[in-house]
Amino acid sequence: MREIEASRLRQKAIRLIAERQRLEKILMQHQRLLRGSLLERPKFCGKPGCKCTKGQPHPPSLYLSRLVKGTVRHLFIRAADHKRARKEALSYKEFRQALRRWRAIGKELNRIWEELETAQEESYPFE
Ligand SMILES: [Zn+2]
Repeated sequence: MREIEASRLRQKAIRLIAERQRLEKILMQHQRLLRGSLLERPKFCGKPGCKCTKGQPHPPSLYLSRLVKGTVRHLFIRAADHKRARKEALSYKEFRQALRRWRAIGKELNRIWEELETAQEESYPFE
């Protein structure tokens, strides 16, 4: 019975270790990260007769929203930087998600090793 439990724990550990390795590949990728999240605001210039007054807004304005010393700050992103900012903000999000999961797996593995120790512990005299 305890051997079944130990075997179940080992299987679980194998799955978690494989998942952690996949996450480590993401964390090890050399990429630029833009911390914060992007906010899009539809843009209406307000000029009379402009297409934006007829339901065709201009490309949206983009802002980088992030916490600076506990306060949310919005930073305007220049149109020329939109593509790069979107890519790097997405990379940041992926990196953070991978890191959060990687840490959770570490804690889970810790518990598994403890349980495995208990499941494998012998009593003495040997039966
Ligand atoms: Zn306009």
